[in-house]
Amino acid sequence: MQKTSRTDDVRVRFAPSPTGFPHIGNIRTALFNWLFARHHGGKFIVRVEDTDQDRLVPGATDAVLEALDWLDIQWDEGPRVGGPYGPYFQSERLDIYQKLADELLDRESAYRCYCSEERLVEIRKAQASAKISIGYDRHCRNLSKDERRAKDAEAGRFVIRFASPASGATEFEDLIRGHVAWQNELMDDFILIKSDGFPTYHMAVVTDDHLMEISHVMRAEEWLPSTHRHLQLHNAMGFEPPEFAHLPMILGPDRAKLSKRHGATAVLEYRDEGFIQEALVNFLELVGWSLDDHTEIMTPSTVIENFGLERVNKAPAIFDYEKLTWMNGMYIRQLSEEDLADRILPHLEKGLPSESLPVDRDYLLQIVPLIRERIKLLPEAVGMTDFFFQTELDFDPQRLIQKDMNKESALAALAACQAEMSGAKTFEHEPLEQALRAAANELELSPRQFFGTLRVAATGKDATPPLFETMEVLGRERVLDRIRQAIERLGDTD
Ligand code: GLU
Repeated sequence: MQKTSRTDDVRVRFAPSPTGFPHIGNIRTALFNWLFARHHGGKFIVRVEDTDQDRLVPGATDAVLEALDWLDIQWDEGPRVGGPYGPYFQSERLDIYQKLADELLDRESAYRCYCSEERLVEIRKAQASAKISIGYDRHCRNLSKDERRAKDAEAGRFVIRFASPASGATEFEDLIRGHVAWQNELMDDFILIKSDGFPTYHMAVVTDDHLMEISHVMRAEEWLPSTHRHLQLHNAMGFEPPEFAHLPMILGPDRAKLSKRHGATAVLEYRDEGFIQEALVNFLELVGWSLDDHTEIMTPSTVIENFGLERVNKAPAIFDYEKLTWMNGMYIRQLSEEDLADRILPHLEKGLPSESLPVDRDYLLQIVPLIRERIKLLPEAVGMTDFFFQTELDFDPQRLIQKDMNKESALAALAACQAEMSGAKTFEHEPLEQALRAAANELELSPRQFFGTLRVAATGKDATPPLFETMEVLGRERVLDRIRQAIERLGDTD
């Protein structure tokens, strides 16, 4: 049975380690914490766990914050915004961890370990050949007072280890996974403070979750095996532990661990690939949680109103890139034309050749209705609309000659288009289509042939958004100019 959780004064945190760029799993964790905070009217805190100095990746913290910004997951406390429980970078809190570690030393809940790296390697080797894995052999835990004093006088390197309980069990109710129990004899005396004075993850996470008054720790399942250590450490420090909820793993549709071959894993790549933030958020909400058994498209307020851990699955969640792409298309179609134009614009600026730039926004606004039903990813707009912006079309004039046509009939079709278009009262697509259908008839060409030739002349392509609407947006002058050029180029061929 699942435990019911305390929900007054909710304070949750997202605690990224800047050792790599944020991936889908990290952001799903951030999102669920954020939704939980918003649902309960609590606080969502970002805390940067940058104590593993050897593995820091430059730019990683900024990338995390940029991803949160992009997805509109706003934090109430943390980097940039500050807050009453700061600093929110663990590397700026070293004295706090040291002080608490000293208190544990005084209470003999921790001890200095002077073992050399060589000795630790020896222990590991011996354990490996005996096929046992109990971790550190507690050699320094058992030093006498005198031995300890002598070691301290040598002033060599040491670490501070936790004196973990040798018997009994550590148990807790995970809000998603239910009852979890560990035998303490399997717990080693893990390190709290490394020889460089930096805390380990365990030390820092427990200290900060307590001092920042975190009510619920909601994090990836991979941290479940660390939780008994955290509970013991909370206990030794005399802290009341937060509640824990371990989110389900994320797998690809083939049920293998999510990786590059299932689609991008770095979140900001989704932005570059043309996913829109609302779609990615909606999709991620369903990676492990559901509103009911069928709803896919949900407004943010519906999700906030209904979010809770009761509907988070224990079983691994499947990340289905195809579904995300489908959902993106659905979201694109819900956007206003203005909004869609603004989102397409940067992709055009990136994808179009420089001579097609700058893109005129009003012109783009006329184009958007022609493509909104067809695009699933924003950059697809580039290939679908480039001919609207090109000053000169570049295509092989032979392509003007459609199936069962020859140079003469293609030229005749283009001449007929020219005549109809220059004489037409308006350039609106409906009357234009009628007039041109009649012209095709007269030349005894099928619509496929006649309009095929016209399409290549007006756009340089064999497939485009609806031709007459497209030409209406291109405008009479531009279309006539392109037909004139097409006639010239085809005339020049032999
Ligand atoms: N810094 C850890 C990570 O990057 C956080 C684990 C936790 O939430 O306790 O996943």
